[in-house]
Amino acid sequence: MHKGNVLDSQKGLNKASPQISIEDARVMVSGYFYAVHFGYHADSRQHRVGKDRRCSCPLGVTCPAVLAVVDYLKAGGARAPDPPPGYFPLAPAVCPVCGAEVYYRADLSSKHRGAGWACVSGGVSHYWQAHTKTLQEQLKKNPWVFRPVIATDGKVLYPGLRRDEVITEDSISRE
Ligand SMILES: [Zn+2]
Ligand SMILES: [Zn+2]
Repeated sequence: MHKGNVLDSQKGLNKASPQISIEDARVMVSGYFYAVHFGYHADSRQHRVGKDRRCSCPLGVTCPAVLAVVDYLKAGGARAPDPPPGYFPLAPAVCPVCGAEVYYRADLSSKHRGAGWACVSGGVSHYWQAHTKTLQEQLKKNPWVFRPVIATDGKVLYPGLRRDEVITEDSISRE
């Protein structure tokens, strides 16, 4: 997937035509998004609706494509896969740390973290805080890199390896 694709498509678009009907919408899963096409109308815009019910077009949350996706899911349509924890397919609508407005930062984008962004109040530091938080949550949920192996008689065959042992290996005193 080409990053920045969605953002580029936002440029040079006119105001929405009000006569878009969700009846004729075709919805398809496309990456972590739902691609919506309004068939009958000469609607050249790209509508890619994310899990946060936001469309990539200038209408954003108010786009009829969002409703088309809701209908499609109600009708049992296939769900778009959840992005891996800590991966942003797009910059979020608001900062997950403080709720302020977010802007896209191409220089922070990466293959593993997805779209880079910064927020208007905390800047880049909130971007990193959000990622650290996800990392810590993941650590809590599944602390094991390798689970311990315990024999049926309760004897520990292998003590396991925890993620935080790998991450902070140097700071842990080993007895
Ligand atoms: Zn749209
Ligand atoms: Zn923030």
